Amino acid sequence: MTANLTEDSSPASGSAIRVLKFGGTSMGGGERILESARLVLAAGGSPVVVVSAMSGVTNQLEALRIGQYAPIEELERRHLEAARTILGEGPGRDGLERAIRARLHTVREGLADREGLAGKDGLEAEQGLAVDPVSDEIRSAGEDLSVLLMTAALSRLGHRARVVDARSIVRTDDRVGGAVPDDDATVELSRHRLLPLVDEGVTPVIQGFVGASADGRTTTLGRGGSDFTAAIIGAALGAPEVTIWTDVDGIYSADPGQIPAARILPELGYEEAVELAYFGARVIHPAAAKHAVGRKVALRIRNSFHPERPGTLIRIDRRGTPGVAALAFKPRVGLLTVRSRPMFMAYGFLARVFEVLTRNRVPVDLVATSHTSTSLTVDRDAPLDRVLSELDAFAEVELQTGMATVSAIGAGLLRIPGVTGEVFRALDDLPVHLISQATDTSLSFVVDEERASEVIRRLHAALIESRPPNPSPYHDP
Ligand code: ADP
Ligand code: ASP
Ligand code: MG
Repeated sequence: MTANLTEDSSPASGSAIRVLKFGGTSMGGGERILESARLVLAAGGSPVVVVSAMSGVTNQLEALRIGQYAPIEELERRHLEAARTILGEGPGRDGLERAIRARLHTVREGLADREGLAGKDGLEAEQGLAVDPVSDEIRSAGEDLSVLLMTAALSRLGHRARVVDARSIVRTDDRVGGAVPDDDATVELSRHRLLPLVDEGVTPVIQGFVGASADGRTTTLGRGGSDFTAAIIGAALGAPEVTIWTDVDGIYSADPGQIPAARILPELGYEEAVELAYFGARVIHPAAAKHAVGRKVALRIRNSFHPERPGTLIRIDRRGTPGVAALAFKPRVGLLTVRSRPMFMAYGFLARVFEVLTRNRVPVDLVATSHTSTSLTVDRDAPLDRVLSELDAFAEVELQTGMATVSAIGAGLLRIPGVTGEVFRALDDLPVHLISQATDTSLSFVVDEERASEVIRRLHAALIESRPPNPSPYHDP
């Protein structure tokens, strides 16, 4: 414990804590990691670094199959190559290589354990059997390797840095693949473990996405969860701003990978940012936006490939300018329509529907109800078979897969006359399966997944490109 474990979380040095999070592309290889380490040095203040796995690595880990060890060798090659680029023949390389091999060895062992389990269960431990569900011990390996590489890069640049295992900071429940942090415990642990280092002038380097349950088991926070880790740590340490370094200039009016005419948003109101994230804009994790806002931490999204650009600031004191600012799109959506069976009273019907969904941990995004039926959207990959059979006991149920939600996000959408009309004029010949507008900040609807790109293109042209562009000096889609 240090004297800093109080309400005032500024380090003794007096310089402000800056939490910097580097995503997969910013950690994509040795050169990129060195570039990111230079950004840490340039940030000034007292940096605290959160890193994701190298791009694609979490996908590769999740796709591991029993008996197929070649992808692990490929992961080893990629990380060893990054280690060589970062350290050259310099000191510490042997140790770094050993640590990389050791972590991947535990992944191999994890797979072998699964193989054993499959055998014990009387299943054939066949080649190619999916590791289902892949354990968080395996899923977290990418971030475990990234902290080693980032710490090596910072040291190579002459900066004092040390790995602080996220398992000793981020306390969670024990849900596999989508654990929920315990806020109070995490605040306490973060301050306790990180502030003494910061006070000594050492930069902590922490795995994003990873945590541990109270009994010490590794957990992960859900895909894209490194942003969440950065927001949690930023809030715990009282950092005024957290920087999310990624591969685009900031938050755009639509995914710039999909809509080349998308416009950068220099600032975004916090409610818009949260809605945008929840409705599918991958650039920021929904829980990160919500957590940061709730704890009064501003988030800045910046491009590590173009650090001279200012990025997007999600301010905690701003609710956005009236009008549609951005569009988001969520694929792989199921549209569930439930009707009360005639012998059941309407009273309590919705409560029962939601009880089934909650018990099966199936989150609902959009809901629309009429006197006779209720439609709601769920993640198509959720455990829907169970939900369907449980609902069937008291309701007529229909599930349509192949859907997507499209959302227009902005401020004052309920107050501005004509927004809804403009949206539906742009889509007048396309089937819309559900419409939902619960807040002033978002208007969402369900369309056929195969038409979603077209819907976004049309809406972007009608609602955003038709307006004068933001006065942004650095827009470069
Ligand atoms: P990281 O690995 O750095 O966390 P992600 O891939 O998770 O990066 O998020 C960045 C990506 O988010 C961008 O490359 C972009 O394609 C996508 N994206 C989706 N919607 C938006 C949006 N509205 N603005 C910016 N990027 C977006
Ligand atoms: N590596 C994790 C993922 O790919 C976490 C993250 O990148 O934020 O989902
Ligand atoms: Mg991300």
